[in-house]
Amino acid sequence: MRLSDDARKASLLERATLVLNRSWRPVHVTTVRRALCMVFRDAARIVAPDTLSTYTFEEWLQQPVYEDRFAIRSPSVRMAAPEIIVLSRYDRVPCHEAPFTRRNLFLRDDFTCQYCGRRCNSDHLSVDHVLPRSRGGATSWENCVLACIGCNARKADRTLKEVGFRLLRPPVRPRWTPYLTLRPNQRMDSWAQFAPEAKRRTTGSS
Ligand SMILES: [Zn+2]
Repeated sequence: MRLSDDARKASLLERATLVLNRSWRPVHVTTVRRALCMVFRDAARIVAPDTLSTYTFEEWLQQPVYEDRFAIRSPSVRMAAPEIIVLSRYDRVPCHEAPFTRRNLFLRDDFTCQYCGRRCNSDHLSVDHVLPRSRGGATSWENCVLACIGCNARKADRTLKEVGFRLLRPPVRPRWTPYLTLRPNQRMDSWAQFAPEAKRRTTGSS
């Protein structure tokens, strides 16, 4: 009983917290554990997802914990796990480009075949060159998409026109966001107000 309580608390502390800079722009995703440390050190404030009021560590402790929120409980403390924090001093926005990697391509296409729309695990997906390499197609964000085994086999070394396939959406280089490294089901709904692309899509798992 105690062990499973501890395990639950540990996994709660590893959940994701969105970090905003002083201008309320998303700059990072951290863990609840590290977010609480930053707030405790006064480097950040906790943002209430619904009212957007900000709280110090002590003030947050005084806030009521609603049933639908993930709460950290110990014999002496009961508080909602912060979903968003805002930094007190940092004002810059990190400037990154999303590197073209297999992992990032899977995240961009959300583990979904871009021809038939089937969502699969990575074993059933492969990277397909829209314009085949044999026809001079580049290995790039703009020419590579995820395809399920079935679609990949049907398409083979043909162009979209030749095989009669259509893409779900045009493949583009994704804009870097702090969420890029997170699976959609790891993102919190409350983050959507700071970046529409962060909105959690329904995945059937949580
Ligand atoms: Zn497919």
